Amino acid sequence: MKSINEIDFSEKKVFVRVDFNVPFDDAGRISDNSRIVAAVPTIKHILSRGGSCILASHLGRPKGKTKELSLSKLVPDLEKLLSLNVLFSEDCIGEKTERLCSNLKPGEVILLENLRFYQEEANADESFAKKLSSLAEIYVNDAYGTTHRDHASTTTMAKFFNLKCPGILLENEITSLKKLMDNPNRPVTAIIGGAKVSSKISVIANMLDVVDNLIIGGGMAYTFIKNNGGIIGDSIFEKDKLNDCSKIISLAEEKNVNLFFPVDVVASNQFSEKGLKKAINIYQIPKGWQGLDIGPLTVSKFENIVRESKTILWNGPMGVFEMPAFEQGTLAIAKSVAEATRSGAFSLIGGGDSVAAIKKFNLQDRVSFISTGGGAMLESLEGKTLPGIKALT
Ligand code: AMP
Repeated sequence: MKSINEIDFSEKKVFVRVDFNVPFDDAGRISDNSRIVAAVPTIKHILSRGGSCILASHLGRPKGKTKELSLSKLVPDLEKLLSLNVLFSEDCIGEKTERLCSNLKPGEVILLENLRFYQEEANADESFAKKLSSLAEIYVNDAYGTTHRDHASTTTMAKFFNLKCPGILLENEITSLKKLMDNPNRPVTAIIGGAKVSSKISVIANMLDVVDNLIIGGGMAYTFIKNNGGIIGDSIFEKDKLNDCSKIISLAEEKNVNLFFPVDVVASNQFSEKGLKKAINIYQIPKGWQGLDIGPLTVSKFENIVRESKTILWNGPMGVFEMPAFEQGTLAIAKSVAEATRSGAFSLIGGGDSVAAIKKFNLQDRVSFISTGGGAMLESLEGKTLPGIKALT
């Protein structure tokens, strides 16, 4: 795979697949522009080396063309971030788009209309991909969040280019994952939390080949504890995953991975901050009570493991961190990850909710890397080859 630094962009038209799938507030304003901000280094890199950028993205899941999901709404933000005028094409293919793109001069940027206005995008349609590819001479993919999808703009069109590479954002994602998966500094610790075992079981199984320590926290821990014979009261658990938990426990033993579960929890008699609260043994949660955070004994046990680690993956919160009454466990883990990072460990935070947690605690600048891809990150951690990355090789 070529690096963006190896490609001569001078006088070249570059198709840049970005992830501009931004959220909007009720008034229709962009509520979080971080995905646009994240693409700026790649765009600037190409422009400063004499190229021009044809930016393309999906936005939402439109059924046909809708004004609400038009990428034209992003132009003012993009212009502000790039400090230049950005052209807009009301279509992503067709004669008019071809004309606009062929007239593009070095240093100019054009944003194409929502790729998913065409069903052909999600169908990875060959002739649609060919039309997109005819607009440019070089293909750059900087949309990590969509690399797990086999779509026209993320996989099919890449084959029509001799010159292609990941953008800066995607290259950083690939490098960070490599630091974790290939020859990491040891000990390696994965902290896996979140609501359900079912959504992370393949990640946990694959991580057993990589890590020395595996910490299980959050809602998913209760299925393991129940499997181990614990009484978990009304805590969430998945009956049909008990078998999987047994398999994980024996696999961990086979692979010499230290598996750590919570020993105590902060339980409540309600799924709300208004209920009573108490720290109790995770194996003896009474009926009518549910565990909503890891308890203080668990916090210090987990903190010690994290502090001693040289490579850390964190995916999923330790409790219902959205409620301040149950955020302490997740906050403590976030702090210990930051501390380990300061002492030289490499820390990778991935998956929507741990990213949200680290941002809530304002520790995002104190970890090594925060992944931008939720689903793509999970699939990478499951050991899958992502089609959007394979297409760049
Ligand atoms: P996930 O998307 O699978 O990473 O799950 C994240 C969600 O899990 C967050 O919204 C947390 O509130 C929730 N969660 C974490 N711990 C618990 C728990 N003990 N009980 C219920 N929900 C939890």
